[in-house]
Amino acid sequence: MSRKHIVAGNWKMNNTQAETTALISDLTQKEKTSNAEVIIAPTSINLYTAVSQLEGSSIQVAAQNMHQAENGAYTGEISASMLKDVGIQTVILGHSERRAYFYENDTLLAQKVNTALSHGLRIIFCFGEELDDRKNGKHFDIVESQLKNAIFHLTSDQWSQIILAYEPVWAIGTGETASPEQAQEMHAFIRKTVSESYDVTTANNVSILYGGSVKPANAKEIFSKPDVDGGLIGGAALKADDFFAIVNAF
Ligand code: PEP
Repeated sequence: MSRKHIVAGNWKMNNTQAETTALISDLTQKEKTSNAEVIIAPTSINLYTAVSQLEGSSIQVAAQNMHQAENGAYTGEISASMLKDVGIQTVILGHSERRAYFYENDTLLAQKVNTALSHGLRIIFCFGEELDDRKNGKHFDIVESQLKNAIFHLTSDQWSQIILAYEPVWAIGTGETASPEQAQEMHAFIRKTVSESYDVTTANNVSILYGGSVKPANAKEIFSKPDVDGGLIGGAALKADDFFAIVNAF
């Protein structure tokens, strides 16, 4: 089993260039006592600044989104090759805010996944059920279909470039977190689904992050679960102390 612990901070549409530089400067002064790989995802206009500032640091930089086309008349969009060109190695795809506010669906996400992989980008692939799905007992079906429709067409070799991020929509930015038991139950289900569609090795090697109101106060308990390999952190990633408390919760 070679999967890694990973803590990734999704900064969303926050931080000017000056604020980005200041937060990164704070982050680089923190002591890392865990074995977790650390990733931050600033807004696209600040990716180059972040990559330049973190040269030589173990903190990696990811993009929050990417367009599926190679290039062309897609006003306002950013391509995979543009991300690579500024030193980005990882892209977040399928975040629930992209699905909800920008109408990204499984078919589109499958295209984005293919484009990202063809450019050698690693993907943090987000998915998760809404509150009604959970109330109606459909959460396992929803998660399974999100995975099957957007990433289960990949070869097992391509899975080395995939990080999964289970993010129940009802727990994102709400202060409400899935219980460590709910997270473990879903992560174990996800791993079993990967194992059944691929093989045990692929399932055991993929890192599955949990996202949804992870804070310093709850990170340790969530990360103690055997199938939780890290976190995708929103609000708490905007403060260096909180983010590193979560990184060091492993
Ligand atoms: C997220 O947006 O991926 C997230 C998990 O946000 P928060 O930690 O603020 O709930």
